[in-house]
Amino acid sequence: MTDRLTPEQRHRVMSRIYGKGTKPELKVRQWLWRHGYRYRLNVKSVPGKPDIVMRRYRTAIFVNGCFWHGHHVETFQETSLQMVNSKCCKIPQTNREFWVNKIKRNQERDQKNYQLLHDNGWQVIVIWECQLTPKRIEETMLRVELLLNEHFLALHQPKVIPYDVQETPISIAAEEENYGKR
Ligand SMILES: [Zn+2]
Repeated sequence: MTDRLTPEQRHRVMSRIYGKGTKPELKVRQWLWRHGYRYRLNVKSVPGKPDIVMRRYRTAIFVNGCFWHGHHVETFQETSLQMVNSKCCKIPQTNREFWVNKIKRNQERDQKNYQLLHDNGWQVIVIWECQLTPKRIEETMLRVELLLNEHFLALHQPKVIPYDVQETPISIAAEEENYGKR
């Protein structure tokens, strides 16, 4: 089936369909801000230009549109153009080849960016648009918060733990004292 529209016109139509409502990225930013997290946007010095950069947590967050980044779509290697729709990424039948190629390119670029960030010591968190519905946003963001804090702990953990935490409970005051000596 051929498309009546030029790729540019089609792009505008698809943007209108899939870009409705509050931008997913904005929902994430608002949640983080309300919960006291501070971040920077469009930091050019960080590879892959993540949507949100949290230096304190050495974490880069990408907020991905399910359509553009092919959330949950299945691809088959033998026939490189075959891609199976998912619940949140429905590729149009019209001009399908064009869209499959576009989504594949986006996915490849994503993977390269994530890898580059990872190699540079960044934690990468990918949040999908479908995880930000009113029903799911709280659960999603609590998971993000957990990842942030776990990573922060990992970054700042003392190299040697001089006692068995479970067997020898130690008061915070005593721990502070030990910490000062190291
Ligand atoms: Zn999705």
